[in-house]
Amino acid sequence: KESRAMMFQQQHMDPDGPSTNSNYCNQMMRRRLMTEGRCKPVNTFIHEPLVDVQAICLQGNTICKNGKPNCHKSSSSMKITDCRVKSSSKYPDCDYQTSHKERHIIVACEGNPYVPVHFDASV
Ligand code: ATP
Repeated sequence: KESRAMMFQQQHMDPDGPSTNSNYCNQMMRRRLMTEGRCKPVNTFIHEPLVDVQAICLQGNTICKNGKPNCHKSSSSMKITDCRVKSSSKYPDCDYQTSHKERHIIVACEGNPYVPVHFDASV
């Protein structure tokens, strides 16, 4: 079974992206296996080096949306792409709206080493 840290990287890390391409989310959501069984409704990709994203686990501590205390907010804003499934999208033809943004991000961290395992929000 894949670790939750690897799962976070598969679902949320794209350090070399994005291609300047409105099809980005359609391609990436499929390539990263988030359109298997259902179209995952929303997902964010992060376009920063992995070490910079891992370092968020040492930055400002904050409460997660689920009430747990293990969330951390990036001290810098980061390049991200939000993918949101269109209301007209019909599985298995998952059709996403692609929005490039620059935001502070909030991730949940777990384990030893203490690394990102969940993307909570961007602010
Ligand atoms: P993820 O980055 O986890 O894939 P997601 O985009 O799938 O997030 P949700 O479906 O809302 O978004 O996330 C739910 C998942 O996130 C669940 O598996 C839950 O266990 C995990 N999660 C939520 N909050 C935390 C937390 N504080 N610490 C660890 N895991 C969390």
